[in-house]
Order: sequence, then structure tokens, then C-alpha cells
Amino acid sequence: MSSFEAARTNPPFKRQVIVGEHIARGLYKVQLAMQIKTAHGRGTRRAYQAQLLTVLKKDGARLTTAEGVADRLGLRIPLVRRMLRQLRRRGLVAHDATNAICSASVRLTSRGQRKAARVRTPADLLAALAPDLSEDKQDPLLQSVERMIAHLVQAGDISVNNMCGNCTYFRAHVHQHAQWPHHCVYIDEALPSGQPEKGSVSR
Ligand code: SF4
Repeated sequence: MSSFEAARTNPPFKRQVIVGEHIARGLYKVQLAMQIKTAHGRGTRRAYQAQLLTVLKKDGARLTTAEGVADRLGLRIPLVRRMLRQLRRRGLVAHDATNAICSASVRLTSRGQRKAARVRTPADLLAALAPDLSEDKQDPLLQSVERMIAHLVQAGDISVNNMCGNCTYFRAHVHQHAQWPHHCVYIDEALPSGQPEKGSVSR
């Protein structure tokens, strides 16, 4: 059972937080699709890294882990670890010296904090607010986010090639249909065929 499915049986406040985090993940997907599209394939890696920076910035001075960042963004852990290593090489992220970055607590350096402040977008702000919204405001927002994602899939702006292979909501080869073999559990719809491109960030 996913944390979102579990929210249905939780008390109202807990449900509100879990649904809010689920909405935030969806908003990050929409934001990522837009950033990848406008970068015309040249800035995919930087788009993922910008999302990691804003999530780490949201946590302020608190330390977090690769697993925590991956959960916030709905991304697969190996991708997040790889991105964190690259951010560390750029001097934007530091981790406690006793562990490899795979298991370490990570935080933004002061340079990383300045960079995170610059890459923040309206979607980041809305994602930060979502867990605090009341249930009656969350439901229509969630429906809007689901519709936006479905639209981006139909338009080809979100695909297995550019994003789904790195996403925790992706289920590969669950349908018999040759053109639509995959499934997205966020929008609960089939996804078209495709493989992550050679050299993509999912590798
Ligand atoms: S599986 Fe694809 S369409 Fe579904 S939420 Fe993830 S990136 Fe978006």
C-alpha cells in the first residue's frame, strides 16, 4: 500500500499532510517537464539538480538523506544519489564525513543555499504550501495536478524517455497493449512505450 493510499485510513491531519506531499510530488513532475522542455534536452540533469536543491533548501539547516530527498520528489533513489554526488562535486552539497553519500546525511553548503534561492519557482512555493492546505482545498488542487500530468503525457512532454523511468509512480510493462504497455499510478492511466535514452540521467 502506498503512503497516499494509506492516507485514506489515517486521521484527518495525517491525511492532510500525506495528500499534501503527494500533491507536491505531482507539482514537481509538472515543473520538471516544463524545465526539460524549455531546455530542449540540454538541461535535463540541471533540472533534476535544481529540484534537489529546492527540497534541501526547504528543509533549512536540517540534515536529510538521499532516501528522504527521493521520497519528497517521487524519484528513484539511485538517481538522487547520483545527482547528490554531482552537486557535491559542484560544491553545492556537503555530507557528514563518516559515511559515503549513499547513506550520509546531506545539507546545502552556503554556496548551495545561494543557488537554491535563485532556482526557486512558483511551483516550489505551491508544493511547500500543499501539506498545510485544508482537505477541501487539497482535493481540487490534486485533480488539477493529475489533469496537468495527463495532459503533458498526451502532448509527449512527459514520457518514459525523459522522465517516467526515474519516477516512483512508474510501473513498467503491466499492460498487454503494444503502444501503451506501462502505467502511471499517479494519474492511474496507461503510458506509451519507450525506453530511457542512452546516456540519460536514468542510467
Ligand atoms: S510515471 Fe511519468 S507520468 Fe506518472 S507521475 Fe511519474 S513522471 Fe509523471
